[in-house]
Amino acid sequence: MSTETNLPAPLAQAKDLPSLDRLLQHPQGKALLQEYGHSQVSAALRQHLQSLRQLALKQSLPLSAVLPEQILQHSWQQLEQQNRSRLQPVYNLTGTVLHTNLGRALLPDSAIQAVINALQFPANLEFDLSTGGRGDRDDLIADLICELTGAEAATVVNNNAAAVLLMLNSLSQRKQTIVSRGELVEIGGAFRIPDIMSRAGAKLREVGTTNRTHLHDYEQAIEARTALLMKVHCSNYAIKGFTKNVSISQLAELSQQHQLPAVVDLGSGTLVDLSQWGLPPEPTVKDTIKAGADIVTFSGDKLLGGPQAGLIVGKAELIERIKKNPLKRALRVGKLTLAALEPVLALYRAPELLPQRLTTLRLFTRQPHAMRLQAETLQPLLQSWAGATYKVQAQAMFSQIGSGSMPESVLPSYGLHICYQGSGRPGRHLLALEERLRCLSRPVIGRLHDDALWLDLRCLEPQHEPDFVAQLHPITS
Ligand SMILES: *Cc1c(COP(=O)(O)O)cnc(C)c1O
Repeated sequence: MSTETNLPAPLAQAKDLPSLDRLLQHPQGKALLQEYGHSQVSAALRQHLQSLRQLALKQSLPLSAVLPEQILQHSWQQLEQQNRSRLQPVYNLTGTVLHTNLGRALLPDSAIQAVINALQFPANLEFDLSTGGRGDRDDLIADLICELTGAEAATVVNNNAAAVLLMLNSLSQRKQTIVSRGELVEIGGAFRIPDIMSRAGAKLREVGTTNRTHLHDYEQAIEARTALLMKVHCSNYAIKGFTKNVSISQLAELSQQHQLPAVVDLGSGTLVDLSQWGLPPEPTVKDTIKAGADIVTFSGDKLLGGPQAGLIVGKAELIERIKKNPLKRALRVGKLTLAALEPVLALYRAPELLPQRLTTLRLFTRQPHAMRLQAETLQPLLQSWAGATYKVQAQAMFSQIGSGSMPESVLPSYGLHICYQGSGRPGRHLLALEERLRCLSRPVIGRLHDDALWLDLRCLEPQHEPDFVAQLHPITS
């Protein structure tokens, strides 16, 4: 819509409007056609001319608004807006490193380069370069996954939810899977173990109680229809106090006695012991396999630090059954995922170098003093950008790992704490500031909490700081 003012400007009539043809012949119109093509440009111009015509009929179209340059400029902006990508890079200052709504793991350079290559050139996705025959896309990375996890075989699907679905459908369709009541988790609303179980066609047999499940609970539930004994990692919550759960090795032993597979949905599934870098210990995939799990499923983009993917590892015979399921074809990954996953996995061959090379681990292990220096540098800039009614302070805070990984542990961090100092309730004013940050050319996403807006600087690495600062000083020409 045009933004006309009430100045007593000379008015234009509808007949003063230029024709569509004349606009398209104009040098600026030709430039528009070059950029956006005929159908978009003529539709935008027609629409704009139509609204100008309406204004003319209401005697409120200023003469200046019918200038071709003016009309073309308006449509240019509109087309620019319309063609802007909806998926935009943002600054994640929420304090949650693996933020599911912000795309989880950020990938290392080697993975980025591999994806660019896969986008640009044909690749041996399902082509065996040694024989010239047909290949299997899983073969590109199965050996590497087995090397890192100690599993016999591996396959990859679109995400861990797909991995669990495919595993259950392949191994437990119309049969029973026994799971502890304390492990019937919901991950972010859409993924609930009982729902996935029923969609997979598997019959859920809950055993034990919310807080305590014993080995004999599983044992007593085993019957002729039982296909699997399953454990699910309680990714996003913890049961504390009077609790009891069965270890993977105990469950594996029981399953062996009954010749049933023991399967584990590990959720995050890290490949290395993260406690060596001061992070809370998490069971690794290798430990889980070693403890006797026959199948383990885990995500590619949580603690592993790779692209969205679901990895299924375990006994060769079971993986073979999983791969033969027609659903595998529907859930398989594309070449971009495989291209990104391989170099990320390869980094795990040199674990001691991971904190520099694996982006997510680098973010997890950033030291608070690094963020503190940044916070002190950015504080005055943000203070003047926000204005005097807000108070911006550099302050210690805690980041989270996110994506339901290690929900109880927090990482000491530093950032900016912004509160409202004017009169009245702060809520509305904080929302307004949150929106201003969200509407910057690269949106800045913070966290509203406790009557303040928190900007955790853990995920603003120094190399991104200049661009962050630049958009707080809009260049005025
Ligand atoms: C995160 C998670 C899932 C779902 O994984 P996606 O990769 O998000 O599909 C399933 N199970 C557990 C235990 C999880 O933590």
